[in-house]
Parts: sequence; C-alpha cells; structure tokens
Amino acid sequence: MPLILDGKALATNLEAELAEQVADFLENNAHVPCLAAVLVGDDPASAIYVKNKRSACERVGIESQMHRLASSTTEEELLELIASLNNDDEVNGILVQLPLPTQIREQRVLDAVHPLKDVDCFHAENVGLMVQGRPRYLPCTPHGCLQILHRYDQPVAGKHAVVVGRSEIVGKPVAALLAQKESHLGPAACNATVTLCHSRTSDLAAICRQADILVAAIGRPKFITAEMVKPGAVVVDVGINRTETGLVGDVDFDAVKEIASAITPVPRGVGPMTIAMLLFNTLAAARAQLA
Ligand code: NAP
Repeated sequence: MPLILDGKALATNLEAELAEQVADFLENNAHVPCLAAVLVGDDPASAIYVKNKRSACERVGIESQMHRLASSTTEEELLELIASLNNDDEVNGILVQLPLPTQIREQRVLDAVHPLKDVDCFHAENVGLMVQGRPRYLPCTPHGCLQILHRYDQPVAGKHAVVVGRSEIVGKPVAALLAQKESHLGPAACNATVTLCHSRTSDLAAICRQADILVAAIGRPKFITAEMVKPGAVVVDVGINRTETGLVGDVDFDAVKEIASAITPVPRGVGPMTIAMLLFNTLAAARAQLA
C-alpha cells in the first residue's frame, strides 16, 4: 500500500497550530483577524466552499463576514463592495469566491482587492512577489500541496516534478513554488526540476511517466491513469470533480495507488489544506496590517 497523504488530518493539526497563533495575536493586539467572504450568485458548490471556509475560521478564532450578492450584480456594484472592504479597518482578508457570473470580469475584480488583503494571492503584485521568491502570501492550493509534501517528509529538491494544468490558481503557481530556490519550509521543500503540461502538450503520458512527483490540476475525473505514473512516484491530486458516484479527483486513485509510493485521496486530500492555508494567510494579513 502507498502512503496516503491525508490532507484532512494535516489540516486538523494545522488548525490547532493556527488557533494558538490567533489567540496569541489577539492577546498582543486586541484585534480579532477578520476574513470577508464575497459570494455572488447561487452556485451551490461555491456556497458550500464559502460555508466550509467560514466554519474553519470559526474553529481557529478568526472572525468572518459573509457578503452575498445576487447573480444579477453588476461589475460596478461588486467593485463598490470591494472598495468598501478595502477601506474597512476591521477586515484583514477579502475572499472573492470564483467563478463569478459572466457579466463580471474576474480579473478586474481580483485586481481591485487591496494587495495586503489579497489572502488568495491572486493580485498581480502578490503573484509577482511570489514568483520572484519574496512572497507576501502564498496561494492557498499550491501552498497546501507543498505543505502536504513537507509534512509527510516527501522531499522535493532534486526531483522531477510534473505539473499537469497551467491555471493561474493552481498549475502555474504550484510549478513556480516547486521550482523556487528557497521556501519558508526549507530547501528540501522546493528546488525541483519542473515540467508544466497542459492541453497542448505532446505525449503527455510519456512526460507524466518521468515524474518523481506528479501534480494533477486538470478538472477531468480520473484523467491520470496507472499507465501514466512511474512506479514509486508521489502523486498529488488537486482535482475536485462532481460525478454521479460522488467526488473524484483527476487521478484514477484505485489504479494509481497500486503503483505510487504516496498519494493524496479525494476527498480528504488537497481540499482541506487549501482552507487551512487561507486561514494561515488571513492571520498573516492581520499581522501585515498592524504596521
Ligand atoms: P482550469 O482553470 O480549468 O485549468 C485546467 C488546466 O488543465 C488547464 O491548464 C488545461 O490546459 C489543463 N487541461 C485540461 N484538459 C487537459 C488535457 N486533456 N491534457 C492536459 N491538460 C489539460 O482548472 P483549475 O482551476 O486549475 O482546477 C483544476 C482542478 O482542480 C479542478 O478539478 C478544480 O475543481 C480543482 N481545484 C481544487 C482545489 C482544491 O482546493 N483542492 C482548488 C482549486 C481547484 P489549457 O491551459 O491548455 O486549457
């Protein structure tokens, strides 16, 4: 059996660590860190994500606000709300749940979030700092992947990491972080040789088979089959796909677990760690805004 990289258990440990740090922050600063969640429209999956994030805030002592807007909200109305949250001293972090309704340009909204309150690390300033190796915040899902590898003693340095998917939210930043020279988790948690694959990659299976560490962030159920995995590889499955049989990842877990040395499950893998890293960033934002 491979090592199951249990993100849920790790997230529980991380929450306990964060709860102590939040209590410590509160004692020293008399100010409760606060996350403002913005949910536009009535996509049920987005509503569940926001609910889970707010529950996690509550568990560690972070305050959360909910700003729920109708699906007919205009871009200007949403930008007005973002501006008011930017100016609100009580709010340390702003989370705009994606996707947004089609009449709203996501990039414009994400660009409008104040960089110090950008706890998702989507703002160009924060992405630029991260890519240059001097991060203000780390993007939550990629950071969650790194934490899983680090906390399960799976070294990254010197390994060939193959990332499938090049989205701004997952694939690109996870590739950038794996390739960094330095990490707050130490040099073993970065310094990989990274190949970034996407839908135009030729012979994807052959490239995946070269991976010591394979990260799947594609959005296609069970896309990564056993034939695409090198024996002994470490497999991180970011995918969350709703199918008739329930939630499944981008990796064919049952087949790939027979070959991999370590693998994240779905659910209980990267998802809970993403939320834990959002809490981590909200506390970091509260600290950054003291100055
Ligand atoms: P996305 O924006 O749709 O990007 C998907 C990426 O996969 C794109 O780069 C695309 O290539 C690539 N791709 C699609 N089909 C492919 C194929 N046949 N071969 C190779 N590459 C292919 O998705 P995302 O936001 O990165 O999310 C990916 C998955 O992770 C989804 O299941 C999402 O629900 C999940 N997710 C999970 C978490 C979490 O916390 N666990 C967080 C965020 C997302 P092109 O660029 O060429 O189109």
